[in-house]
Amino acid sequence: MAVKFKADSRRWLTQGYNPLELEKEIREFWETNQIPQKLIQLREKTNVGILGYVEGPPTLNGVQHVGHARGRVMKDLRYRMKAMQGFYVTFRAGWDCQGLPVELEVERALGVKNKKELLERVGEERFVEECKKTVMKYYREWRSADRKLGMFMDYDKAYWTYLDKYIEREWQYLKRAWEQSLLGEGYYVVAYCPHCQTSLSNAEVGLGYEEVDDPSIYFKLKVRGAENEYFIVWTTMPFTIITDMMMAVHPEAEYAKIKVNDETWVLTKGRVEPIMQKLGVKDYKLLEVMWGKELKGIKYEYPFIDTVPKQRELDEHPLVHTVVCEDFVDISTATGVVHLSPGNGEDDFLAAQKRDIPIYVPFDNECRFTTDAGEFSGLFARDADSKVADELRKRGLLLSVETVRHEYPTCWRSHHKLVWLARREYFLWTDRVNEKVVTAAENVNFFFDGPKNRFLSFLKEGKPWCLSRERVWGAPLPVWVCEKCGDKTLVASKKELFERALETPSQDFELHKPWVDRLTLKCEKCGGVMKREPFVLDCWHDSGASPYASFTDEEFEKYVPVDFLVEAIDQTRGWANSLLLEHVILTGKAESPYKAFLFYGFVLDEKGRKMSKSLGNVIEMNPLLERNSADVCRFYMLWKCSPTDSMNFDTRELSKRPYQVLGTLYHLHRFLMQNAEYDNFNPREHTLKWASENNALKSPDHWLLSKLQRVVREVTEKLEVCDFQFAMAELEEFVVNVVSRQYIPVVRRELWSDDPETLNRRLAVYATLWHVLKTLTLLFNPVTPYLSEAMYQRVYKQLDKTLPESVNFEDWPKPDKLLQDKALEQEFENLIQSVSLVYSARQNAQLKRRWPLQKVIVVAPKKVQNALKNLEEAFLELANVKKVEYVEKPPEETDEKRWALALDEGMQVLLDTSRDESLLGEGVMRDLARRVQALRKELGFMPTDILDGVHVAELDSESVRLLKPYLSDMAELVRTRKVYVHKERSEVKAEWNERRLDGKTVYVAIE
Ligand SMILES: [Zn+2]
Ligand SMILES: [Zn+2]
Repeated sequence: MAVKFKADSRRWLTQGYNPLELEKEIREFWETNQIPQKLIQLREKTNVGILGYVEGPPTLNGVQHVGHARGRVMKDLRYRMKAMQGFYVTFRAGWDCQGLPVELEVERALGVKNKKELLERVGEERFVEECKKTVMKYYREWRSADRKLGMFMDYDKAYWTYLDKYIEREWQYLKRAWEQSLLGEGYYVVAYCPHCQTSLSNAEVGLGYEEVDDPSIYFKLKVRGAENEYFIVWTTMPFTIITDMMMAVHPEAEYAKIKVNDETWVLTKGRVEPIMQKLGVKDYKLLEVMWGKELKGIKYEYPFIDTVPKQRELDEHPLVHTVVCEDFVDISTATGVVHLSPGNGEDDFLAAQKRDIPIYVPFDNECRFTTDAGEFSGLFARDADSKVADELRKRGLLLSVETVRHEYPTCWRSHHKLVWLARREYFLWTDRVNEKVVTAAENVNFFFDGPKNRFLSFLKEGKPWCLSRERVWGAPLPVWVCEKCGDKTLVASKKELFERALETPSQDFELHKPWVDRLTLKCEKCGGVMKREPFVLDCWHDSGASPYASFTDEEFEKYVPVDFLVEAIDQTRGWANSLLLEHVILTGKAESPYKAFLFYGFVLDEKGRKMSKSLGNVIEMNPLLERNSADVCRFYMLWKCSPTDSMNFDTRELSKRPYQVLGTLYHLHRFLMQNAEYDNFNPREHTLKWASENNALKSPDHWLLSKLQRVVREVTEKLEVCDFQFAMAELEEFVVNVVSRQYIPVVRRELWSDDPETLNRRLAVYATLWHVLKTLTLLFNPVTPYLSEAMYQRVYKQLDKTLPESVNFEDWPKPDKLLQDKALEQEFENLIQSVSLVYSARQNAQLKRRWPLQKVIVVAPKKVQNALKNLEEAFLELANVKKVEYVEKPPEETDEKRWALALDEGMQVLLDTSRDESLLGEGVMRDLARRVQALRKELGFMPTDILDGVHVAELDSESVRLLKPYLSDMAELVRTRKVYVHKERSEVKAEWNERRLDGKTVYVAIE
């Protein structure tokens, strides 16, 4: 065996594409040479523009899973592409460190059941330390996953929401709100989690709907002063009857009085029939029909007046326990009569406020009824449901009780059913700036209509933002209240706080509970002592403050509004919302802090189920990337579906098409490198210009270069508008079909020769491939950064030492109009069409593509014929036919046995299937050659290695006879000095390999 050249490219490109190994090496290359840092420096120094970016900070209460990674891949793609286009992007990391999610994670780790136990057993100081430890633990996990994924974020300049310097800048938002009277205290109905013992914001409520079981009861409320007359009411929250204050009907709806036995029942007319059916009442009579407004003012008997003394007191109020009219009453379901509990419902609360009715909220912090609830005191709200039903039954007021399964909001963190409670909270009155908020959002580019509409319709609800949380680990609400006169003040910096504090802050002071609560201020009005309101902030406010809080003043001016953000679709209620609300408050303008926002869909499991801990189907990134290639994962996530679609992630699919596409790109490079090195190709000398000047470029080269320009344009445009899967499809098609299956087969034979006469032609092919593959390497870089860097280092930089240090420092490709040739592309379309017709004709006649055939007749219009004539050489090569004839009309008579036919739009081919001995011999030779080529590959020979000899044994005698004239052709084809044919294996001592050939066994050996 002879190895012909010294520079063995096996050192650079292993025989197979082994992404895990390759990625490890490239990762080390990036780190050792500080490539990400150098990229930042490069673009800071020379750029075509600045693009601001703030990171949607992952909460450090868990590990990175594929749902997170999908967004990170999109972020990194955008960053790398923009950096290559010459922009400086502030691609800094950010970490969400505070709030309920972290607290609950720590509670779990500490094994405490609820907040009360936490404060008693652990205490605030230690708890805060534990929260920090947890944050750091998950930070390490995230960095490890990011590192494997190949993220190029700037971690040195990351922001951390729990640091004092961040909190102080976050407070500036509150200061602006305070000055505009948009921040204040209010009594309002908020969603409350009994487990977490804190209220949740409206946005948070939407994050956790679950299917739950609830009681569904129909009951009667008796009309006072009337004989046996009742309103029929329905509820799924019986405990709210304890806090019931009014009953509402729709003023413009019709209500019916019906006779059931000796009772009169009142309900909306349209629902009489279904309700009677539901309650099993067969005999009833319609007595009277009236408008809802005619029922207004009717007083009813509160059922528990005897056992809830507080209700007896409230009953004195003229409007308490009377019928009121409200437009929100739905008459299409239930009975069209709703009872109102202002302490437990938002509509109810507003209805009470409008009428100056006192709010009755007899609950403690654990959501248990207080002594104000009489016989129900001590019961947890939802546990009172069954007792209420029992009490109604005892009083003969219960009509039916059953269980319904329905969607109900649960706590997005602890999954407990939420309870609506009227509470004293701090609010951002964002409803007052809603018009500006909506206008600002309308000017943002959301790329796709679905998510845009979802976001806008959520924003239009325009509810106030309940900002206060009764928790520990969070940014403190910086409002102090005078104990004596009740005056309030907002402090917006540590400096101001220290100046005004009556105490000296301790050495270890930080802007957290309990330290911040230890500082009291002197009231400027009355000289009294001011204490801090004990709340911390909703953690969504922390991340929403990132545009201002993570930058300096100067940076904020330069980078905000930022250019482009990407987060999961649930962030319409989360970060996208809080960013927008806070920015409008901060600036006072109808301006969004981001110009574009891409919302991407969820990642589901392979069966399309939501990933959850309970199903055990969550795919975490660290283990995933231990076993799978980051590049393949990245390509897969972008390629599989539109970014807005939910994605069914199936790890088995990784090794299929995505791996194949990247593997093809890899092997194309190997092909180029091996051949180019053999012929001493020098890319600096043998440029496309050189090839053109030496007339060494042929039409397939021009065609490929022309197609490439379109790919550059399309991929750029599609990535720009986030049509990732279309961009990936373009790349896939070009790599797998255009380059690998169409261009390479046309030029491959030209490269087999080592004739010095045709050297220039070979160098021209290398110049073409060099240009095309390098361009592809750059286009792939934002998607598969490892593979691109590997090809860059091991192919391009090997042959051209003057190139920049990393692929990331290259310029993004631009389409070159001069290389475009639309007419030629059209001609090639015809060529490809005719070749594929030949293939199907071959298939019909069961003739392998490898077997050469004598003749084909192409039936096509003159124009197409001319196109094919221009490309005849390529056509014959691809079709593997010796001769082609062109006609406009199909021949009148053809021997069906001899001619295989295939047709397609506007074209038809007739393939001569007859094979004489020479064609048969060549066919046998090609079949054998293919087996030798495969064996060469298996044994690790380079395509350019020249073998000393190839041995074939135990081929049937007819095949041997046919093959004989082709032995020297075969030797050339498989790159060996000589091919030997043996009858028996025993004739020569060799390492025989068994191969199958058309159902028979042959033996092949190479040396
Ligand atoms: Zn909770
Ligand atoms: Zn005061």
